[in-house]
Amino acid sequence: MSIAENLANLRRTMDQAAVRYGRAPGSVRLLAVSKTFGAEVVIDAADAGQASFGENYLQEALEKQQAVHALRPDLRLEWHFIGPIQSNKTRPIAEHFAWVHAIDREKIARRLSEQRPASLPPLNICLQVNVSGEASKSGVAPPEVLALAQAVATLPGLRLRGLMAIPEPANDFESQRQPFALLRTLQQQLTEAGIPTDTLSMGMSADMDAAIAEGATIVRIGTAIFGKRDYAK
Ligand SMILES: *Cc1c(COP(=O)(O)O)cnc(C)c1O
Repeated sequence: MSIAENLANLRRTMDQAAVRYGRAPGSVRLLAVSKTFGAEVVIDAADAGQASFGENYLQEALEKQQAVHALRPDLRLEWHFIGPIQSNKTRPIAEHFAWVHAIDREKIARRLSEQRPASLPPLNICLQVNVSGEASKSGVAPPEVLALAQAVATLPGLRLRGLMAIPEPANDFESQRQPFALLRTLQQQLTEAGIPTDTLSMGMSADMDAAIAEGATIVRIGTAIFGKRDYAK
């Protein structure tokens, strides 16, 4: 199947899931996760109407952005950094992305805010929450989400949009829903504390329906669009 066909199927599946769980079709945004795939593949997806792309590895992402621009300077793509961030790598992220999904420390947020060029709109931010307990090392612990959100919300170069999670894989639908429900509850707590946000970045190829059932507004999908990743390449 072509990338265009995969995207069309995926958009249909997303709309069906949204309607099944009482949500409006089109209420979930698709972020195409293009890590390990080249510029030509991104251009194929862009020509099929996909405008936002997620990347995990900084060097790979910067090279791909340049390659896409060199081949197709007409394309206006929105790049999201979804991987973990080292504090010595914040400047290129602040300069070359529209969104960052995996903030779990105030120090990284401060640097991104300071380094965001004044010529660009504020960098859109999601806080990554550890919804799987000790099984996962990245993400802020649920009891610390509010304090981090309060700190990030004051930073002028950033715009806090919401929360993100990568739960431990689970096979059955009900187990998949639980961590997403927790993320939704944490977002409600932020709203009640006077920090309204509009984004829940949750759901990947294997657990997208459960995430949509629990209110995902962005699903981050790689394999179902581009096929299996080959990290050896
Ligand atoms: C790779 C990755 C994805 C996409 O995963 P698939 O299972 O290929 O859909 C989504 N989110 C993050 C943070 C990732 O690293």
